[in-house]
Amino acid sequence: MLPKELIEKYQLWKSDTFFKNKDRFEKLAKEGQSPQYMIISCVDSRVDPNSIFNAEAGELFVHRNIANLVPRYDNLAEHSGTIAAIEFGVCVLNIKNIIIIGHSGCGGIKNGFHMCKENKFDENSAIPNWLKILMPAYKKLSNDDDMKMIDEFEKISILSSLENLSNYPFLKKSLDTNDINLYGIWNDIGTGSLEVYNQKTKAFEKI
Ligand SMILES: [Zn+2]
Repeated sequence: MLPKELIEKYQLWKSDTFFKNKDRFEKLAKEGQSPQYMIISCVDSRVDPNSIFNAEAGELFVHRNIANLVPRYDNLAEHSGTIAAIEFGVCVLNIKNIIIIGHSGCGGIKNGFHMCKENKFDENSAIPNWLKILMPAYKKLSNDDDMKMIDEFEKISILSSLENLSNYPFLKKSLDTNDINLYGIWNDIGTGSLEVYNQKTKAFEKI
């Protein structure tokens, strides 16, 4: 049996949100999904892309993993989950906008930072194996204070993921013709603000 709290929350959603959007859900069930945006977000429960962008069902194609990372395409066999989701979004759903959203106080980034710093990744555990993706981004850090480096890491890792993404073979052609857009965003949980990476100024800018 599901916890009572969840059953009650579900019943509230069914009688309120679902009931008000009944036609929309019927249409989505009949016609399938055609989202315009793919979001790659951290699994952190405090960051909810559907809530941040005030999205309805069917609007956002969301993939979540620890620390919102995009592996290099040559990690296909090892990290197929994230790569498969991106391939589905681009090649099957024909999505033209991919947004990577990182956030303040990311536990994945913090732990990954210490693993990279000590160059210690426990091979018998899935989390270190995943966070090893962060190593190239770690090497780009410019600060020398741990706290500042972790803050910097949250943003630099987003840029590293964008770089990995731009080398995906099924994205290359669309990127060359400006047919697809990639965005990097950082969310400050405490203030609710979003900073978007500006390719021209090479900086994250508040919107
Ligand atoms: Zn996180």
